[in-house]
Amino acid sequence: MNPFSYTRAVDPQQATSVIGSNASAKILAGGTNLIDLMKMGVERPTQLVDINRLPLTQIEELPNGGGVRIGGLARNSDVAEHPLIVQRYPVLSQALLAGASPQLRNLATTGGNLLQRTRCYYFYDPAFPQCNKRQPGSGCGALNGFNRIHAILGQSEQCIATNPSDMNVALAALDAVVQVQGAKGARSIPIGDFHRLPGDTPNIDTNLQADELITAVDLPAIPFATRSHYLKIRDRASYAFALVSVAAVLDLQNGKINGARIALGGVAHKPWRAQKAEAALQGQTADEKTFRAAAEAELAAAKGYKHNSFKIELAKRAIVRALSTAAAMA
Ligand SMILES: Cc1cc2nc3c(=O)[nH]c(=O)nc-3n(C[C@H](O)[C@H](O)[C@H](O)COP(=O)(O)OP(=O)(O)OC[C@H]3O[C@@H](n4cnc5c(N)ncnc54)[C@H](O)[C@@H]3O)c2cc1C
Repeated sequence: MNPFSYTRAVDPQQATSVIGSNASAKILAGGTNLIDLMKMGVERPTQLVDINRLPLTQIEELPNGGGVRIGGLARNSDVAEHPLIVQRYPVLSQALLAGASPQLRNLATTGGNLLQRTRCYYFYDPAFPQCNKRQPGSGCGALNGFNRIHAILGQSEQCIATNPSDMNVALAALDAVVQVQGAKGARSIPIGDFHRLPGDTPNIDTNLQADELITAVDLPAIPFATRSHYLKIRDRASYAFALVSVAAVLDLQNGKINGARIALGGVAHKPWRAQKAEAALQGQTADEKTFRAAAEAELAAAKGYKHNSFKIELAKRAIVRALSTAAAMA
């Protein structure tokens, strides 16, 4: 491991000032991703800024029925089990509980989960010389290599890695807003603008600036989010990342679809909001035929590679199953 200095932040301003003044400083939250990457030699920060003692662990209602605010340091376990989340946003609770293991969830934080890095084998292991995300300009080992877990939507010739998070998929379906604080002040980033597609700069995962700290995530009030479901398809029943996942939220009125919010995981460089499927569902009868047509519309632009073409049909079937489960809820 490379040598690094350690700073325990006493307030958010100190944390943002350190990361703003040292380009190779990194925030340390739960450490469940960052420390792994440091051990592998993928991340080489010269300074760690420990934010664990900052007062950012709240999970509370926003005023005037405005939804729920989740602190940037709220642990994944605490969010998953919190009554406000379980009752109002079950899809988020289910997504969190589908991730990692209880021990990891006890440490992992909301901010860290948002920023966890891809599980692409070529990124994770510096013994592979080609990875545009780890080493810009070096090529993409996965394009013609072993690409079973890789992207089928929104990818580029530079990178076909996927975002590995379960939480992020539910946040995308719920139109969450990420609250951040930087040297120039605070700003809000809609979840759809937070993560990036790879394009020509796959080394940049998000639109968070170098001096910005994630302070909270806001969930808007969505009364129909009680009718929602998270479906995760993976190689093992637990402790495995998603091959494909679906967060589905349905607004049903007398069997007709008044609105739908769908996001996919495991298929793209960012949590993939399935807007074509949502449009295809609008005003239709909630049945399997409608759901399949919506899934076909969303995956029409999908492109598979040598080992991951199976994900295209898998994603379609997962969309149908997640929507069917949500529709069948009392
Ligand atoms: C064996 C294993 C299995 C896993 N399985 C799953 C799974 O199935 N599904 C899933 O979704 N995840 C899974 N994970 C990933 C896990 O969810 C993440 O490691 C975790 O969410 C990261 O949170 P953290 O607080 O530990 O982040 P850290 O490791 O502390 O930080 C991650 C990154 O975020 C930055 N950061 C952290 N907090 C902030 C902040 N507030 N503001 C700005 N930057 C910040 C750090 O600088 C770092 O770059 C797994 C992890 C492991 C090790």
